[in-house]
Amino acid sequence: MMIDYENAETIYRRFFQSIGTYQCVNNGFRKWRFHCPVHQDDKASALAWLGDDGRIIIGCPVCDTRHHPEVRLAIISQLGLKVSDLMPKEKKWDEKGNLEPTSAWNYRDENGRILYRSARFDLPDGKKRFELQAWNGREFVRGAKGVRRVLYNLPAIVRASKSKTIWLVEGEKKADIMGEVGLVATAVATGSAAPWEPQFTESIRGRPVAIMPDNDGPSKHFAERVAGILMCDGGFDRLAVVPLCGLPAKGDIWDLIRSCKDSEMTKEEISQIIQNALDGSPFRWRRV
Ligand SMILES: [Zn+2]
Repeated sequence: MMIDYENAETIYRRFFQSIGTYQCVNNGFRKWRFHCPVHQDDKASALAWLGDDGRIIIGCPVCDTRHHPEVRLAIISQLGLKVSDLMPKEKKWDEKGNLEPTSAWNYRDENGRILYRSARFDLPDGKKRFELQAWNGREFVRGAKGVRRVLYNLPAIVRASKSKTIWLVEGEKKADIMGEVGLVATAVATGSAAPWEPQFTESIRGRPVAIMPDNDGPSKHFAERVAGILMCDGGFDRLAVVPLCGLPAKGDIWDLIRSCKDSEMTKEEISQIIQNALDGSPFRWRRV
């Protein structure tokens, strides 16, 4: 990804406002020191540096964020920031001056044919908006009324072996990053208020299912609602709700995997952390 420096400026400004005093360590590599908000830090031992993609990466050798990616998230949270605040943002405009989606996630049928997409718009006033857009064979058009609804990543679910756990997370972006570490993950469009359609149950019936909510109320509520539906629908011998313990409020699996990647953990190590969360999950139901 090309670094958009004007955009990076905004990110730095926001970041430096949050950390207060800091000291430039190595201008050539754009690295800075600041006081770690998590441990008693007299020496300004925390570090911030510029990643290849224009975002800010932070770490604290005293807290050993290299081996404790969740502590990195605690530092970011203590600074009053979200992980996404440290990421470069792209703004796209089409030739008519209309805002193009910042990101879009395609929903496909079993055979990989696109049915619709969920498009995210980052509006000039800083707000975000999501919209479903149906594929009419030539282009995406606003709205998806009457279009068959499917689980995100349905082709991957169909391809996966029957013993492989299907992870249900809130949002396509999280499903994508779980896919990057070798897990099969799915989501439903439009977030925690989304209806759970009967065909979603059919797509995953008989498979081990792990539902991983974000660390916030609506998301946990969604997880419990879907778990309840699957239990009643039947055919789920292995079903779990897996809370991510130790995350800051509103933290999620995307933040955690992002932080693990900043620690240069391997795919296997990251998926093992997630597997451990499932194995240790207190909300696990089994039927015999
Ligand atoms: Zn520290």
